[in-house]
Amino acid sequence: MSLATPPTPPKPKTNAKPQAPALHSPAATNAAAASFAALTAKLGYLTTDEAEQVRQAYRFADSAHLGQMRKDGEPYITHPISVTAQCAEWKLDAQALMAALLHDVMEDCGIAKHELIERFGAPVADLVDGLTKLDKLQFNSREENQSESFRKMLLAMARDVRVILIKLADRTHNMRTMAEMSRDRQLRISTETLEIYAPIAHRLGLNQTYRELQDLSFRFLYPWRHKILTKAVTKARSRRRDLLQKVLQEVEAAFAQAGIKIRIAGREKTIYSIYRKMDLKHLSFAQVTDIYGFRVIVPSVTDCYTALGVLHQLYKPVPGKFKDHIAIGKINGYQSLHTTLVGPASINIEFQMRTEAMHMVAESGVAAHWLYKANNPDSGPLDRLGSKWLQSLLDIQDETRDAAEFWDHIKVDLFPDAVYVFTPKGQIMAMPRGATLLDFAYAIHSNVGDHTVSASIGGQQVPLRTELKNGDVVEVVTDPSATPNPAWLDFVRTGRARSKIRHYLKTMAQTESVSLGEKLLTQALRAEGIEKLPPQSPSNQALWDKLFRFTGNRSTSDLLTDIGLGKRIAGIVAKRLVILLAETGEKPDAVLMTRERYGAQDTSGSSAVTLDGSENASVKFAPCCLPVPGDNILGYLGRGEGLVIHCEDCAVAKRLQHKDRERFIDVEWSDEPVRQFESRLVVTVSNGKGVLARVATAIASAEADIAHIDMGEKSAQDAMDLRLTIAVQDLAHLEAVIRTLKRTGSVLNASRARPSS
Ligand code: MN
Repeated sequence: MSLATPPTPPKPKTNAKPQAPALHSPAATNAAAASFAALTAKLGYLTTDEAEQVRQAYRFADSAHLGQMRKDGEPYITHPISVTAQCAEWKLDAQALMAALLHDVMEDCGIAKHELIERFGAPVADLVDGLTKLDKLQFNSREENQSESFRKMLLAMARDVRVILIKLADRTHNMRTMAEMSRDRQLRISTETLEIYAPIAHRLGLNQTYRELQDLSFRFLYPWRHKILTKAVTKARSRRRDLLQKVLQEVEAAFAQAGIKIRIAGREKTIYSIYRKMDLKHLSFAQVTDIYGFRVIVPSVTDCYTALGVLHQLYKPVPGKFKDHIAIGKINGYQSLHTTLVGPASINIEFQMRTEAMHMVAESGVAAHWLYKANNPDSGPLDRLGSKWLQSLLDIQDETRDAAEFWDHIKVDLFPDAVYVFTPKGQIMAMPRGATLLDFAYAIHSNVGDHTVSASIGGQQVPLRTELKNGDVVEVVTDPSATPNPAWLDFVRTGRARSKIRHYLKTMAQTESVSLGEKLLTQALRAEGIEKLPPQSPSNQALWDKLFRFTGNRSTSDLLTDIGLGKRIAGIVAKRLVILLAETGEKPDAVLMTRERYGAQDTSGSSAVTLDGSENASVKFAPCCLPVPGDNILGYLGRGEGLVIHCEDCAVAKRLQHKDRERFIDVEWSDEPVRQFESRLVVTVSNGKGVLARVATAIASAEADIAHIDMGEKSAQDAMDLRLTIAVQDLAHLEAVIRTLKRTGSVLNASRARPSS
């Protein structure tokens, strides 16, 4: 994964603070060792070998962080140990635990990736590397509406879900130990946690972590509000204690009577969710009624519905509060039945009914996948699980046995196929997968796209067709004189870029048609004795309006485009213009008229349309005769197809001249054509080995390019015709090629192909 550093410089590592080893007191060392001992107690689900590998990772991390202290005075190693302990709660595999222990050694201790590969293997090193890269991305909360994109970028960048889980454990521990940090830092980290990491935890179904991250952020962002609400909740709780105890007893009795084995636990809304409810719905604390709840864990899915019946007989349900999240699970896999009942003393109490498997997913989400495997080493039939989502996760895992592939499957559900890149200013842009640099340029603005000359990713100049990758920092260089290239259409991926490029090319052809039309109309006017087009001025408005009524156009450029494209004939428009001018008193100049009409040879330079090959869509070279510079040519203004250039002796052109003479205009070659032109040859060769190679070599030696070769029918037993399309500079070049061919062995004859009829 190539990952550019975002435009903001990587943050100085939050907690690391190297100090003199002398400060590494024996007491602190003991504390760290003690906490690793506590971690070891949680590793029972690993094999002996795996546990030993984890221990080695610990020793390595411990000596790497030696002398570094946390802000709160603890030895730094206590942090990775706590992060690993959380991962062990989720029963993540040994590789993930090792990575969790090592997660800060690249960034804080300057350990190189290859050293990690040698010591702990590539999978562990990749996890640590992935975490280090996530650390370098810094969310800039000043950019509005960017948190969603930033979340998606984080998720898309982590090629392995374990990276996200370790990151969440890391963030949770950092939030728990943030008290000693500066206020600024607390605010920044809390905002980032609330906007980025808590929603990710929620999305992955890690509800416990989600709730804790929200509450911790809230505490740092609004310490005062948090304090008041905590007090209110504590007070209310003690006031309601007896009442809730009573509910608990009544519920347990009811289920005992119904013969359903249950596990029941009290559940309290978090401080943050109470705050949010008050804030969103403008409620007072007293008005937030569903603070208390119970969770009822039952053996089977059917029992969930039976339990609902038992409860509804015990207490009156609040109408409209029943929700079946089992039939229709939430997108993050959450399943439960919810109902709110009116308990003793008329307090509302929410009940959630679920199976053990649903509970596991509800609390741990994606991590339930490891939890389930650890708890059920030789897992029984999957259909007993009850949670479709967990089941589908396990199915995927069974099929793939690969954490990266597993993650790819989850990702499909989690976010659309997009890549996330940075602008130089740190703005995040979501682009469709496969989009190129040029698509990016057009996504910024069509003006940027149209004038793009080059681009760079992470400061390195790369071709415009380069595909974007997550986290790329992209910069586009523009030049006002640069214009879109038709070849761009071959590699842009977005509809926006494609349509903008097409639009530009079309407009350009239009502009060319206008100037061709103007030239043709002026030329036709001169032949009628009028020196130049009447200018577009208010005094001429009536004149032009009359002309438009005649031609059916709406503006001068509209009319000139039509003439340029051959939709209107310049001579006819000119004649009408002369009549209209006569009405205003302007008479044709007889001398000019005579000279233009009968002395064309002398003034051809000024009246004919000059072609140098740079013409775009407005001029075509007729495919029947393929004129090249040096040929005598004619211009035919086809109906709506623009100007078509034929050779003067082309049979097709001659037929057209016969019935459509007025559509022909004078054209001539420029002295310096700017490109090569295609021409067709017929080469008759004797049959034999290597003939084609000899012909090709001959053409190359005459410095012409072959565009196409067609092997014709055998014209005789021992000879055949080759039809070639070649590119040449001009007629002289073409004739030189033909002479070379005629001197080549096996070539019986060579000539320019002519339209057959
Ligand atoms: Mn960390």
